[in-house]
Amino acid sequence: MFEISLIPAFKDNYIWLLRRGRQAFVVDPGDAAPVLQRLAADDLELAGILITHHHADHQGGIAGLLAHRACDVFAPAEESITGRTHPLRGGERLELLGVAVEVLAVPGHTLGHLAYLAPGALFCGDTLFGAGCGRLFEGTPAQMSASLERIAALPDATRIYCAHEYTQMNLPFAQAVEPDNPDIAARIQRVAAARVAGQATVPLTLGEEQLSNPFLRCREPAVIASAQANGARDASPVEVFAALRAWRNVF
Ligand SMILES: [Zn+2]
Repeated sequence: MFEISLIPAFKDNYIWLLRRGRQAFVVDPGDAAPVLQRLAADDLELAGILITHHHADHQGGIAGLLAHRACDVFAPAEESITGRTHPLRGGERLELLGVAVEVLAVPGHTLGHLAYLAPGALFCGDTLFGAGCGRLFEGTPAQMSASLERIAALPDATRIYCAHEYTQMNLPFAQAVEPDNPDIAARIQRVAAARVAGQATVPLTLGEEQLSNPFLRCREPAVIASAQANGARDASPVEVFAALRAWRNVF
């Protein structure tokens, strides 16, 4: 397995650095400068770039990185991506730095959005966040709900490397959906302590998200009741998800 570490960018983005020996990949380099600094500091060679979706804070650094050194760019086939060498649609199996990586199509935040699954580690861009999920800029609630269910079916121990530090910001909404969920209350305390100490809350673990992320809990009676009090017309998981997502947008 490669070693995974984070490179902070902008206000709350995380660029993930995957390294094995002196070779490195980066995931969603929205900015080239902090990546180039890190490569130089750690004496690493950039072997490739993984892109989850087309938003500028995820691909804005590609041109700067390619100017420094040509490398492979794995990215959604259906989106406009700078320097893409390997267009992907989901279902592909890659070998990156000697590690098997499966490509998952997870449309919703954008239509071509991809996630990359290495053993025990999912790089999911803006699909799932700590206690939350991405906005539906392009896809439908049904598409995003199916994408999240695909992620939710992975083993609980899977580490989730999402692209933003949003956990603390998302938890008050999770608590509004489920005021009596003790896992959410406990997580609010834990996350507050971590943030005061300057620690990232990512990677997430899927097991913790299952307990405290409302968007993965659309079959829980308390979540269904809250969603129905906020616009859901029935108890189906897609309808519950759609109501939660719309409520979150104005929360
Ligand atoms: Zn995005």
